[in-house]
Amino acid sequence: MGQSTDRIPVAVLGSTGSVGQKFIQLLSNHPYFKVTEVAASERSAGKTYAEAVNWILPEPIPEDVAKLHVKECVPNKNCKVAFSGLDASVAGDVEEDFAKAGYIVVSNSKNHRQDTYVPLMIPEVNPDHIQLMEFQNYGEGKIVTNPNCSVIGMVIALKPIFDAFGLEAINVVTMQAISGAGFPGVASLTILDNVVPYIGGEEDKMELEPLKLLGSFTPQGIKFPDIPISAQCNRVGVLDGHTETVQIKLSKKASKQDIIDCWRAFKSEPQKLQLPSAPIQPIHYFDNPAYPQPRLHRNIENSMAVSVGRLRECKLFDYKFVVLSHNTVRGAAGGAILCAELLKAKNMLD
Ligand code: NAP
Repeated sequence: MGQSTDRIPVAVLGSTGSVGQKFIQLLSNHPYFKVTEVAASERSAGKTYAEAVNWILPEPIPEDVAKLHVKECVPNKNCKVAFSGLDASVAGDVEEDFAKAGYIVVSNSKNHRQDTYVPLMIPEVNPDHIQLMEFQNYGEGKIVTNPNCSVIGMVIALKPIFDAFGLEAINVVTMQAISGAGFPGVASLTILDNVVPYIGGEEDKMELEPLKLLGSFTPQGIKFPDIPISAQCNRVGVLDGHTETVQIKLSKKASKQDIIDCWRAFKSEPQKLQLPSAPIQPIHYFDNPAYPQPRLHRNIENSMAVSVGRLRECKLFDYKFVVLSHNTVRGAAGGAILCAELLKAKNMLD
């Protein structure tokens, strides 16, 4: 990537966690942003990043970040943007403190996702929801949030269908990767040779967040569409990549080919603006009936594309299909960076 000489300084809050490490990796050599501050809990504060972090990615820690000193999550940082990969137990207050102090916070945590004037954003799905930020009362500072990691893959696949044919009902069953539980995550004795049919709070998010994402902007907040969603969420022994089987009922009739065509043609604002992290083709549809699979397809287009397959008629709904997306990249750090790239393109980081 070509780099401008005056990259925007950014902090990563929760920089030592599973999502925080992905931020550090993806922001290394980013053309718009440069990590100048890393923050985490008081357990990590005071150490260099290399000392504090239990680095779990195959690439080495970027040299310039390895020697930064980890600070506590207080809003006295030398930067404009704060990417947050904070544990939800602290994210709510910390992110609000940063916004009140004038920072633009791009969060992965659940805490502010349903605030009336906080966009819950997937840049390909609802870039117009950025307008909500004008109504926030943090002054110069703002908060924008990335949705839940399972929601992101499903809603990217649903968006072109929703626009073309409407949606009447959705049923989804997820098979979610271990890395979605953070680090050190699920104990090996719990997940090896096993499926855990419960992820606390996940089904509520799957049933609510798509409605805000597919909703329409009004100055009073987002108007949610009336679509019943039923979700069942499972943890499976896959390292990265959430796989979901989805059933949908449409408002208007569509053939199987109509749906595949609208998936393959789907492009949105990030593609038009050629944002650095945007996949060229957000949705890859596979004709092979054994695809998509997490080990084979989670890294397509730098892990920012969503893979879809097995579209077929459903005896209970109209259609059913499988969707796969990378939970810590498209579903977390990569998605949040794409949101910040969109803010920059809209001159909201000036
Ligand atoms: P994680 O691995 O447990 O990391 C949590 C981070 O929060 C660590 O950097 C930790 O710092 C910091 N932290 C914990 N307690 C703190 C405190 N009291 N004060 C300041 N910092 C504190 O979690 P994760 O999986 O990266 O998830 C981070 C957030 O992203 C969560 O809200 C999660 O729900 C969300 N999310 C995760 C995924 C995913 O696939 N993993 C996807 C989407 C969204 P120390 O190392 O110093 O303890």
